[in-house]
Amino acid sequence: MADSGARLLEGAPIANEIRTAVAEDVATFTAVNRRPPGLAVVIVGRDAPSTVYLEQILRGCTKVGVHAEFVELEGEATEASVAATIRAVNTDPAVDGVIVQMPLPPTIRLRTVIDAIDPSKDIDGIHPLNAGLLRLGYDGFLPATAHAAVEIMRRSGIEIAGRDAVVIGRSAVVGMPAAFLLVKEDATVTVCHSRTRDLADHVSRADIVVVAAGRPGLVTGAMLKPGAVVVDVGINLVDGRVVGDVDFASAVVVASAITPVPGGIGPLTNALLLTHLIRAAERQAAAHPRTGVEPGMTAPTIQPAPTAPTAPTAPTAPTRGDR
Ligand code: NAD
Repeated sequence: MADSGARLLEGAPIANEIRTAVAEDVATFTAVNRRPPGLAVVIVGRDAPSTVYLEQILRGCTKVGVHAEFVELEGEATEASVAATIRAVNTDPAVDGVIVQMPLPPTIRLRTVIDAIDPSKDIDGIHPLNAGLLRLGYDGFLPATAHAAVEIMRRSGIEIAGRDAVVIGRSAVVGMPAAFLLVKEDATVTVCHSRTRDLADHVSRADIVVVAAGRPGLVTGAMLKPGAVVVDVGINLVDGRVVGDVDFASAVVVASAITPVPGGIGPLTNALLLTHLIRAAERQAAAHPRTGVEPGMTAPTIQPAPTAPTAPTAPTAPTRGDR
């Protein structure tokens, strides 16, 4: 509980519970399959800002007994070599899940990378097959951050069904999947974005506000409906401090519950990613019984879902998220 009375929705206690359960699942998986679940993190250029975040993921994996490693390419790597590296990881029987460093260098098109990932190893839900499964309400791999934004409310006992929710941000990796998940939880959802005419008006009517815009201070307490639940996904560096998209000081006195930044969505995202990995590992193990996953053998590959041919255009800046 924050001083103001708003309940603080902290990610760490929930993440710890999840990690404890994951560690047990990892131990069982390892005993049965005589290998730990494996994660490959494809990174292009060590100096990317997300490297610190990816190193955290690696440490988290090691703690629960998952084998995780960086598959590194030079910052100047070509699009073709990045795609070839991902395809090689797809066929590695010791790897159950693949995540790719984001944002990618500007010379690498996101779509090329996404298309290269085997959807059955796509534990951060970026492949169109997994996005489509989510859209249709089926069980695919969810983007971990969007999953965390909704899971933090579910696990905190916050009622979602029937409530009016506003999601700010419509990116393919955070905003839209969060909106679809909220619809699945029976909320009535409005998606706002950079071209929304009167953001404050939409926010003022929302029982639940999920903010994923990457704009510090975008949502203030004055915009909120009293008692609203506020989930702040934003991560911004301001004057050397990590802050969210919500002006916490003004929001905390109006909201009934609010996620802090840091310490809200971030820790939960990493823990949920581990649950996705376990699920992927169990599916790979079931699809390729143990003789199929001994190191050095070529495992039968799962064919990636057919994708629409992409027009041969010159590499441009990636279209991650949107305007
Ligand atoms: P993005 O840049 O791809 O998308 C931002 C979205 O915000 C866009 O849809 C855009 O239309 C919208 N937007 C921008 N300015 C706006 C405005 N003034 N009013 C309304 N909408 C506006 O970003 P993303 O990848 O979706 O990430 C969003 C935020 O979440 C970033 O701060 C990012 O760092 C953070 N993030 C956090 C985690 C985590 O684990 N907590 C993980 C991934 C991303």
